[in-house]
Amino acid sequence: MMRISILCSDFNRYLECPEEFLPKEVRCVRDPSHKPHKHTGWSRFSLTPDHVTQKLIRLFRWFCPECKESISIWPEFILPYQPELVETHEQAVVEHLNGTSITDTADVIGYNPRTVSRWIKRIMNQALLMAPRIIPQLLQFLACELLPLSSTIAFKATQELLSWLYRYAQFIEFPRLYRLMGLCNVLGQGRLIIWGGAIGRCRYSREITEIFLC
Ligand SMILES: [Zn+2]
Repeated sequence: MMRISILCSDFNRYLECPEEFLPKEVRCVRDPSHKPHKHTGWSRFSLTPDHVTQKLIRLFRWFCPECKESISIWPEFILPYQPELVETHEQAVVEHLNGTSITDTADVIGYNPRTVSRWIKRIMNQALLMAPRIIPQLLQFLACELLPLSSTIAFKATQELLSWLYRYAQFIEFPRLYRLMGLCNVLGQGRLIIWGGAIGRCRYSREITEIFLC
């Protein structure tokens, strides 16, 4: 079955009137030239938004005759087979990254720590899958913009970034492994001033240009 996530910031509003959030036109996920039609009726999905009470929400489906397959429309706040809101899973990850123990997080919402640990694992694995796409963009961004963070506030993030840069430097056999600012420069096509960030005016010497920018 194909699945389309739709934007829906208001869970309660969806509960009352899901039709309001349905897309006007649904395209087949496999081939946008296909013309799916809407299924009559809907199915129920059981949610526990506050970790205690169950609420039934309605899910709608389209059907693609060319693919002979259904396309179900999922509001952004739920995932298949997960009775909690995505927000609950995300909150657990944020707390985990901030150093709260899984047992403490689980205690607060009255869940088994194993369940919470599963949520965290799933999101972390997804993040790893996305890393190859995100890191090149991040490196580019880093070379031409100032991140809205400071190294004292986001010490861990900075450390991670530098270790990724270091690994990249090893990978491309960058001749100055510890000069990571220089590496940022190379990745940013030399738009940053080399070796020390934006300090005064600086031009590359011809040797540097030859080594790093060829
Ligand atoms: Zn199709």
